[in-house]
Amino acid sequence: QGSIVVHVRVAPLGGEHTLVIADDRTEFTRTAAMRNDFVANVSHELKTPVGAVSLLAEAIDSAADDPVAVRRFAGRMDKEARRLAELVQDIIELSRLQGTDVVLKGTVVDLREILSEAVDRTALLAQERGVKIGVGGDTHAFVFGDPDLLMTAFRNLIDNALRYSPEGTTVGVGIRERDGLVSVSVTDQGPGIPVDEQERVFERFYRVDTARSRSTGGTGLGLSIVKHVVSNHGGEVTLWSQPGQGSTFTVRLPESEEQGERVDALQARS
Ligand code: ADP
Repeated sequence: QGSIVVHVRVAPLGGEHTLVIADDRTEFTRTAAMRNDFVANVSHELKTPVGAVSLLAEAIDSAADDPVAVRRFAGRMDKEARRLAELVQDIIELSRLQGTDVVLKGTVVDLREILSEAVDRTALLAQERGVKIGVGGDTHAFVFGDPDLLMTAFRNLIDNALRYSPEGTTVGVGIRERDGLVSVSVTDQGPGIPVDEQERVFERFYRVDTARSRSTGGTGLGLSIVKHVVSNHGGEVTLWSQPGQGSTFTVRLPESEEQGERVDALQARS
């Protein structure tokens, strides 16, 4: 697949030789089509907030005599501008990740530390949403990778869990090392995701329920970023969910060999 095999007779050498011409046009065409899709999707997604900002500018202009209305429109304009900034940031992040198969900055990372910090950083959102959140499981779990990218990935999963959770529910973050693999699960008691859409939620800009997603915010790129970060680290992300029974996203990453023995020693001591 992706190559042409040609049998040739090369006179001076005699006999039959096999010439394999690697044809990477299929790959090239596929990448080009994906890039075109991405540009089309991005343009479409940017149009909404950009259009809203210019409509609000017009509204402010025509409500100049009404300070209350001006303040209200300005507030909405600020919200749209923030949304735009978030979208642009995610687009840049995703295109950076798509351009590479390797982890650029690698170091030994304690995932427990990353997760605790990610949970701390979402404390305000959890409070706003009236959702409880906690981290449990192993006290250390070391992987090799880029701490900033790993933080981005887990922040996205935790943010989603909080944003899609009804008030009064709990989000659980669990970490476990076993047989050379570190598993992190983020579980919520939200609406869940229908089975036939579970693969699609990792696609760029795919949303299960457009109306609901719009009201909960988000760019539609979060899970796509998670998938790229995890695969760049040699891992995988899976989803278990049933409508009405919440969702669990599980990330599995190879344990850092250097630290594996240290973890066992630390856990034996604690
Ligand atoms: P968004 O920014 O819209 O949340 P994501 O790529 O992070 O984009 O997620 C894609 C879609 O998957 C969301 O729009 C939502 O429909 C669904 N989704 C993601 N996480 C959850 C979750 N924890 N519970 C229910 N639905 C979710």
